[in-house]
Amino acid sequence: MTDKIETSFQDLNLHPKILKAITDAGYTIPTPIQQAAIPEILKGSDLCGAANTGTGKTAAFMLPILHRLISNPSSGQGPRVLVLVPTRELAMQVSNEAIKYSKHLHGLKTVCIYGGVPYPKQKRDLSNPYDILVATPGRLIDYMERGQIRFSRLELLVLDEADRMLDMGFIDPVKKIAAATPKSRQTLLFSATLKENVVQLSKHLLNNPVKIGITLEQTKHENIDQRVLFVDNVSHKHRILDHILKDPELSKAIVFTATKFFANQLVDKLKEDGHFAAVLHGDIKQQKRTKTISLFKAGKVKILIATDVAARGVDIQNVSHVINFDLPRDVEDHVHRIGRTGRAGSTGIALSFAAPKDIPVLRRIEKFTNQKMTVITIPGMEPSLKASTPTHERPHNNNKRSFRPKRFDNKNRFHHAKKPGKKKFFD
Ligand code: ADP
Ligand code: MG
Repeated sequence: MTDKIETSFQDLNLHPKILKAITDAGYTIPTPIQQAAIPEILKGSDLCGAANTGTGKTAAFMLPILHRLISNPSSGQGPRVLVLVPTRELAMQVSNEAIKYSKHLHGLKTVCIYGGVPYPKQKRDLSNPYDILVATPGRLIDYMERGQIRFSRLELLVLDEADRMLDMGFIDPVKKIAAATPKSRQTLLFSATLKENVVQLSKHLLNNPVKIGITLEQTKHENIDQRVLFVDNVSHKHRILDHILKDPELSKAIVFTATKFFANQLVDKLKEDGHFAAVLHGDIKQQKRTKTISLFKAGKVKILIATDVAARGVDIQNVSHVINFDLPRDVEDHVHRIGRTGRAGSTGIALSFAAPKDIPVLRRIEKFTNQKMTVITIPGMEPSLKASTPTHERPHNNNKRSFRPKRFDNKNRFHHAKKPGKKKFFD
């Protein structure tokens, strides 16, 4: 994904059966985080790895873990590897990846447990021999308290999406789980961002870790085209959204709203308007969420309305558009949202609806992603004079900022920073 790539998967000394699964998956070269992390994990080091969403962190830990497991067979009860993840969707996704990469490694078994579903099947899975356990913290603690999980032979602990885990308030459960595992374990922590609380957690749980930060690129999504549309009010947002959703270049879109309530409202409206839309948020039953994701993956649902928590970490390919119907609460959420598109090398478009009062937020996003957002308008749906006023009260503020309109007159407002051909998208 960058110019620096030289190493091949063959150079990483992975077992031939793992290499075969990698080839089956269609991967040709390891991503930068994979190149950096795999040799360290094979050596047995603790590791703290930060890289953008969508850069292949799952394989970065799963491939060397599988290699280690088959190189040193062990018998006994309980998991040899525990992967903790913040959400149910992510648990399923990581466990599917483990199964995919271990498909030629007969006898290696992965179990996945998470909340929101009945206990009996998971309990059965836990009572048979298995090697890798992928779990969300809450449900795992339930089983620990019932005495249904033993960590006596645990060799590796992975904390995936550590930043989200902390945002979701899992700090104490994570510490409690880690404390129940052997001190001799190898610990790996992966995160999209290295905020202070993540660094603190890594100091608490990791032993002299190797730190890998795919810096600069860390928050920059070069293959994502970030655009801003200024809006006057909610009905203006609806009109613009309706226009965008009719674009023939739009194959799959995720639309983010600020709350579950708004998500429900929006999906109802879109369905009424005849769109193939579905909603994904924390109040929706697990079974339905899983079904929605698979329908969206299969292209049977074209528009997914989601809240931040529900969409976090979910790997869905070929999302052409991410739309911030409501802006995210913080810049990191923005990075995660736009990470749903432009996955693994493909390009994507991220559109943010914003009011002039949101300009400071947009500037923070630009600064954080180190990437300019292009302000665009749709002919006939330009924002009103009133909405644009605040930007013009400070015309000398900063000439370089992209949010300053290039030209402004009463007839033709917001003719902004249009790159040639940009407008065409909406025509
Ligand atoms: P992250 O955890 O960093 O957000 P994922 O592990 O979910 O990213 O990977 C994103 C996507 O990239 C997945 O669909 C995965 O199958 C794919 N992928 C991972 N490694 C490679 C690779 N080396 N080449 C091509 N695709 C890859
Ligand atoms: Mg991940």
